[in-house]
Amino acid sequence: MARGDIFVISAPSGSGKTTICRALLARVEGLVLSVSYTTRERRKGESDGRDYYFVNEQKFDNMVKRKEFLEYARVYGNWYGTSFAAVDAIVSRGEDAVLEIDVQGGRSVKAAVPEAVLVGILPPDRDTLRKRLFGRAREGREEMERRLEAARQEISELKRYDYLVVNKDLEAAVRQVEWIVRARRLRRERTAAAVDRIL
Ligand code: 5GP
Repeated sequence: MARGDIFVISAPSGSGKTTICRALLARVEGLVLSVSYTTRERRKGESDGRDYYFVNEQKFDNMVKRKEFLEYARVYGNWYGTSFAAVDAIVSRGEDAVLEIDVQGGRSVKAAVPEAVLVGILPPDRDTLRKRLFGRAREGREEMERRLEAARQEISELKRYDYLVVNKDLEAAVRQVEWIVRARRLRRERTAAAVDRIL
């Protein structure tokens, strides 16, 4: 059976990435979210093994030493990483993996797996980004300013991504990411077997 593909989805905080991913996963069959490891505190409503595997720094460090991560990065002061095992469990059974990770992670994945597809989500404009960032008010003012600066940096890095989707209208954005996934599935590497069968 052909192995599945890796889709990296990155976006600055406040772009609506989580909402898009959730809708995408509900809509596209055979697409599975890779659950990351993190050292950050669990937020209310999050559960271990579904949103993240929550681990302490020592455990994370051990995993780094044992080379268990396809990529890992420090984001907003915490460690995050995608394990080989999480991705492999998905792609080895022919399903496609979605990695909802930051741009540093996207860069590392592309270096390790050049055929991985990098998709960036952009807010429609600067005002919307600001509103989405500050409207959430989960963090304090200072933290939000820090995130705004981080968002600026992330956005400039997204220029290197394979695809960019502007999230002006949620439904349209989800549909566009869905097209990217479906177009990838139609690529020749995957359909060569069908050609061979006929020939
Ligand atoms: P949050 O703490 O809000 O869930 O995520 C913070 C940031 O870390 C988001 O941009 C998210 O995409 C990113 N992130 C989550 N998991 C990973 C991962 O495994 N690797 C990397 N590089 N970034 C991640």
